[in-house]
Amino acid sequence: MLYRLRNNFRLSIITMLGVCAILGITPFAIFRFVQGDLLAGTVDTVIMLCIVITMSYAWITGDTRRSGFCMAIIACAGGATVASVLGTIGLFWLFPPFITSFFLTPPRLAIIINLSTLLVLMVFNIGFQSFEYMLSFATTAVVVSACAYIFALRNETQRVRLEQLAILDPLTGVKNRRAMEQELKSAVAFHQRSGLSYALAILDLDHFKQVNDDHGHAVGDEVLLSCVQIILKHTRRTDQLFRFGGEEFVLLLPGVDDYGMRSVLRNVYRVLRRDLKCPGGPVTASYGLTLLKDDDTPDSWLARADAALYQAKEDGRDRVAVAGEAEALV
Ligand code: GH3
Ligand code: MG
Ligand code: MG
Repeated sequence: MLYRLRNNFRLSIITMLGVCAILGITPFAIFRFVQGDLLAGTVDTVIMLCIVITMSYAWITGDTRRSGFCMAIIACAGGATVASVLGTIGLFWLFPPFITSFFLTPPRLAIIINLSTLLVLMVFNIGFQSFEYMLSFATTAVVVSACAYIFALRNETQRVRLEQLAILDPLTGVKNRRAMEQELKSAVAFHQRSGLSYALAILDLDHFKQVNDDHGHAVGDEVLLSCVQIILKHTRRTDQLFRFGGEEFVLLLPGVDDYGMRSVLRNVYRVLRRDLKCPGGPVTASYGLTLLKDDDTPDSWLARADAALYQAKEDGRDRVAVAGEAEALV
């Protein structure tokens, strides 16, 4: 439970609001009933129940996107209802929902929910004693929402940037080893569910240390970058290229059979051999190639491709070895 709260920001906000609703609204509901104000007491109770149901839904299904949206609507609608029952003093209850809607839903959706609530209040003149009250409330509500919107947007951009930093290789821009491990896991799981075939190729540039030693690290970097560009240019958008580390890359090909795997790799080998160059001449690569088997794990699949790559290196480099075959493909 603590793990889920710590790792799921939206779930933690939904839970916090739920708990606050129980602790904060219950005394008010009781107080209203004791005062004999049945309407206000019922409104408080209904709001609280809706929040508790939404919170339970989020915990049971894990669907925090839908429950976050519901929670934002309930909180704003609840605040507006309280204002209609209590008058001006009830309007204060709208400021917490105006802020928390940005924690519960994406920024654009939150601003729409807030402004729609404000519009409803103004059109139906809910809780305002005079036009001046309405104007003051509208101004403060818009300022609060605008500040929260800018803050949420900034947060969102930083989150996306951080996510990209965690999975992209900074030099070449393709996904890194961490992302590859995740994708291989998904591919194995999807193959077991749907039977879709996958192929995997590992390629390692030949004598790359020599390129660095002879022409410098910057030239080596350029060779790595153009290696990626050439491969991406000659593979499909659904194929995925990862930088496995150093001068090693992994190519994941979904939906290809044995014949397809061989023709894709023949083509990649041919164009890379033709176009990948450093000032000293062409730069070649060795490849290990294998299809995903039914009983494979991501590790066993990768290990088989790696063994084939090792074989290609042993046999003299600049060739494509298919796992389990003595003869090189090219
Ligand atoms: P082999 O044909 O056996 O693969 O020989 P190799 O020289 O390619 O392999 P080795 O593992 O001996 O050397 C890999 C080199 O790749 C050494 C390292 O300096 C270089 N390298 C790794 N990452 C980078 C990088 O980001 N930029 C540059 N320029 N070089 C890198
Ligand atoms: Mg190498
Ligand atoms: Mg290597």
